[in-house]
Amino acid sequence: MAGYVPPLDDIRFTMEHVTDLATLAALPGFEHADPETVAGLLDEAGRFFAEQFAPLNRLGDVQHSHRHPDASVTTPDGFAKAYHRYVDAGWPAVPFPPEFGGGGFPWLVGTAMQEELTSANMGLSLCPLLTQGAIDMLLHNGSEAQREVYLPKMVTGEWSGTMNLTEPQAGSDVGALTTRAVPADDGSWRITGQKIFITYGEHDLTDNIVHLVLARVPDAPPGTRGISCFIVPKFLVNDDGTLGARNAVECVSIEDKMGINASPTCVMAYDGAVGYLIGEPNQGMRYMFTMMNTARLSVGVEGLAIAERAYQQAVAYAHERRQGRAPGASGGSGESAIVEHADVRRMLLTMKAHIEAIRGIAYLNAEAIDLAKVHPDAALRAAAHERAEILTPITKGWGTDLGVEMTSIAIQVHGGMGYIEETGVAQHYRDARIAPIYEGTNGIQAMDLVGRKLGLRGGGAIADFVDSIAATAEEASAAGGDVALAGAALAEGVTVLREATAWLLANTPSDPNNAFAAATPYLRLAGIVTGAWALTKGAIAAAALRASDGGGFSTEFLDQKVVTAHFFATQVLPQARGLLPAVMAGPADLFAATF
Ligand SMILES: Cc1cc2nc3c(=O)[nH]c(=O)nc-3n(C[C@H](O)[C@H](O)[C@H](O)COP(=O)(O)OP(=O)(O)OC[C@H]3O[C@@H](n4cnc5c(N)ncnc54)[C@H](O)[C@@H]3O)c2cc1C
Repeated sequence: MAGYVPPLDDIRFTMEHVTDLATLAALPGFEHADPETVAGLLDEAGRFFAEQFAPLNRLGDVQHSHRHPDASVTTPDGFAKAYHRYVDAGWPAVPFPPEFGGGGFPWLVGTAMQEELTSANMGLSLCPLLTQGAIDMLLHNGSEAQREVYLPKMVTGEWSGTMNLTEPQAGSDVGALTTRAVPADDGSWRITGQKIFITYGEHDLTDNIVHLVLARVPDAPPGTRGISCFIVPKFLVNDDGTLGARNAVECVSIEDKMGINASPTCVMAYDGAVGYLIGEPNQGMRYMFTMMNTARLSVGVEGLAIAERAYQQAVAYAHERRQGRAPGASGGSGESAIVEHADVRRMLLTMKAHIEAIRGIAYLNAEAIDLAKVHPDAALRAAAHERAEILTPITKGWGTDLGVEMTSIAIQVHGGMGYIEETGVAQHYRDARIAPIYEGTNGIQAMDLVGRKLGLRGGGAIADFVDSIAATAEEASAAGGDVALAGAALAEGVTVLREATAWLLANTPSDPNNAFAAATPYLRLAGIVTGAWALTKGAIAAAALRASDGGGFSTEFLDQKVVTAHFFATQVLPQARGLLPAVMAGPADLFAATF
């Protein structure tokens, strides 16, 4: 079974030439994140994850996490040890603010690290991922005292975090939740209710678990307007920072799942547990929005990461497996490695191109989040925020759909052996399947894109976004050769995206179902065009580097960037036009059909 080799060249190339790490590193607070330091950091981190986490991936799938009669949960053999090494090495802290012990690196760097971590072991990666969401929530909305008590230990990874939204009757419709919070005399609250599907709700990796729980205070308005957010630690924290009494929260059971078996997905019972209100009552939903972009970006990165891992395995198998004789095969009369066959090469290049496209989108998304936070110019901060708003549902929706599709292709490359668990490639497909479901289903992402994001600034935000893509198409056209051909195809993609967007902006006001029926095909269309944008940006840079000093990349690597962009632009991007009829159809057939 193939291990994991961090794709350091493509990560570095994407950070430096699709996003602009050097410019980001020139901004106040990020001076230490110069490209050379970042490349070294990601090299080290990638090696750590490949050596410590990747070998446990299959074992986690086979062994699962287990709940015991005393309600404790143990993760698979070796997980706790590997996690402690990760904490000891200081990796969890890299992207968080220095005042809480973090490394203060841009989110872009954190995103690349998250890709490496998730490729190595998605089941284990979910513990830091949920902790990151909880840290983000406390950073934005916690009181100074709350931040002081919880953040330092969460930033180091000594304590983990969870997000407790879902209840049996409240999934996508978070506003239907019924967990109650009543005030206690000492200013704290008592939380009672049941949450389901809570990732790493209980485990043996950390000393304490900081649950963030959505609940309703007495007389809260119905729906999402009446949701409040509470900190409910597994162990209460004494004034001197030591751990105190066990809180009244426990894991009642863990789910038997299709994939990510190492990750304990818990049913959690809160039985009058001590909780501390974050911010104001009934503002929980507003607070959730402050962390949504980073959480959704992270789940989009899961699609990228798992596709990358499966791709590496598919390439290795394609070189190893011999079947048939490829037309024009050189030497002897024996069978060719299947990598010689055109159809297998089509599968591999389809994977490679989509992976590099979504890597570009995810990193552009992270860069926009960084710029929105730290750029000294308020107008540029606002523009970056709009860009992050538009890119986030695309990264999450298209990225996680691709996670499933690309891991499926990896199985196909393996033939029958792909369907056999022993090769391990089926695990990637099973693991990838959750990502389009959680952190807002992809249907909800698509509705967010057409329902909220297209209307930003009266359509001005999406118009600016598409203009940026058009500018790249023009630049590519001037570059000549295959880059120019990619640019011409991208210009056509821009025309299609403008047409689809204009139709939605014109037809949504008359019937919201015009937008909602179009949402999923529109998100895919936008994903394909945005992916081609990222690849074309890369191809322009690669061609320029090829003509100069190479920027530390091999000529083969740079030539491959152009091949990949040309393939995507000329063979995948045309699918965008094919999606237009579905975008512009309206909901008539959907509601005429009977089920
Ligand atoms: C392994 C795993 C881990 C999870 N981890 C966590 C966690 O840590 N914390 C947490 O709080 N939750 C977690 N979840 C819950 C997850 O976020 C929800 O499953 C998800 O939000 C979808 O909710 P649901 O399952 O109730 O599906 P539903 O909301 O019932 O959706 C079913 C289908 O209907 C569609 N749909 C629903 N409403 C609409 C609408 N208004 N318009 C159009 N289509 C709609 C959906 O897109 C979906 O296709 C996890 C789930 C799993 C399986």
